[in-house]
Amino acid sequence: PAEAVPQAPEDALFGLMRAYRADESKDKVDLGIGAYRDDNAKPWVLPVVKKADEILRNDPDLNHEYLPIAGLAPFTSKSIELILGSDSPALAEKRTASVQTISGTGAVHLGALFLARFYKVAGANRTVYLPNPTWANHNQIFGNVGLPIATYPYFDKQTRGLAFDGMVQALRDAPERSIILLHPCAHNPTGVDPTQEQWRAIAAVMKEKKHFPFFDCAYQGFASGDLDRDAAAVRYFVEQGFELVIAQSFAKNFGLYGERAGCFHFAASPGPDAGGVAARVASQLAILQRSEISNPPIYGAKIAATVLNDPALYAEWKENLREMSGRIISMRKALRAKLEELGTPGTWNHITDQIGMFSFTGLSEAQVKRLQEEFHIYMTKNGRISMAGLNTRNVEYVAKAIDKVVRE
Ligand code: PMP
Repeated sequence: PAEAVPQAPEDALFGLMRAYRADESKDKVDLGIGAYRDDNAKPWVLPVVKKADEILRNDPDLNHEYLPIAGLAPFTSKSIELILGSDSPALAEKRTASVQTISGTGAVHLGALFLARFYKVAGANRTVYLPNPTWANHNQIFGNVGLPIATYPYFDKQTRGLAFDGMVQALRDAPERSIILLHPCAHNPTGVDPTQEQWRAIAAVMKEKKHFPFFDCAYQGFASGDLDRDAAAVRYFVEQGFELVIAQSFAKNFGLYGERAGCFHFAASPGPDAGGVAARVASQLAILQRSEISNPPIYGAKIAATVLNDPALYAEWKENLREMSGRIISMRKALRAKLEELGTPGTWNHITDQIGMFSFTGLSEAQVKRLQEEFHIYMTKNGRISMAGLNTRNVEYVAKAIDKVVRE
């Protein structure tokens, strides 16, 4: 069989990380990977995560047993409260199902697999509509389970904001009961989110067309620094009575990247059998999970559960989140100010208008290449920069380099 295996290309983002690590320049700047860095360009273990870690390590009952198939219950139950709000009608009416997953990626995959298997109701369109652009892995994940993929306009190159009219039109034109993937906050890669009012219009069209919302939530608390505000879109759709699913990652907001802590949630529409629907969905998710990973990893989930279930630690987590989002916002301001000070051709307000971990700079592929080759500044070739890679020491260097490549 070996002859039948062609060489696959290296993953673009992980290839970029490798090139960065191999670069020996003292000036090098990593604006590629979406992981938070402190002002010293170092990974940041959240102080509240350190505390939870201490608590766990000092627990004489700590062991490394298997979790149940659906994961750690104190983790999944608080996770769904975090995204839906503890007062959610879906929780009060017990019409949800939750499964712990291999971080956000595993949640998107489990959801994709579930839909590939069960989204077969009469008249439903199995095509998954992804925003253009989106997190590159969405294409692979949905493609791997055999669901057809289409896109809807999302980013307006002219305004570097939301292509709202195009998006709504595409949702209107899509066949009824299509699957629509939505980023509820801090859209990756653009950093552009709909306003509350735009979300309401999006929900109205989706309701009219009976579309199925698939929320991929990888940055709750990272966009605005406010966990509730970042969950507002999902909560609004639940209020509107949609049946929907949510992929939830704790990689960024807890800094638990490698621990792979995440959840997949399902919420049924309200109705007399809503609880029954949720229970049946949970039973099928358990079957899929068993054959995929058997049971999820324990440690990251325990850390998150320790924080989510303790009011004092929870309050401290919110402080930590504000520190991360605050530093990112200050870097947005600094980068924009430096570019404007240099008189760099073009407008740079989009850097502060966009939110979350990333900014879609509008730099061309050729400019990105020059930044890497001449200035040792690494970013994805679509011109996306991870704001967390900027700090008080390198922001001026980056601005000057951008200024050079934009002018020449
Ligand atoms: N969805 C989106 C939109 C993301 O940006 C990411 C992280 N890059 C993920 C899902 C999943 O990340 P993880 O598997 O590390 O939780």
